[in-house]
Amino acid sequence: MNIRKNDNVLIIAGKDKGKKGKVRFVYPKKQRVLVEGVNFIKKHSRAKAQVHQAGVIDLEAPIHISNTMLLCNKCNHPARIGFRFLENGKKVRFCRACGEVID
Ligand SMILES: [Zn+2]
Repeated sequence: MNIRKNDNVLIIAGKDKGKKGKVRFVYPKKQRVLVEGVNFIKKHSRAKAQVHQAGVIDLEAPIHISNTMLLCNKCNHPARIGFRFLENGKKVRFCRACGEVID
């Protein structure tokens, strides 16, 4: 998984193609991410005694990770991601376009 929580991503496929947003959750097993403001679905709820709001609610739904690309914070481009090791041995991601370390 190249995408992590709080990353900024660009949506590259689907009905929200071209949108940008922040990753709120990552579901590694499903290979899906929940992106802020992306992929709203309509959820219908029935009025119940406990629920005050009835009708249709907009909810964000996770999208497949292959439909997203990580955005580089520096060059603000969809980044082709590389990995490299810092002096302390930590593995970090970096943008292949501008060389900026993303982690
Ligand atoms: Zn960059």
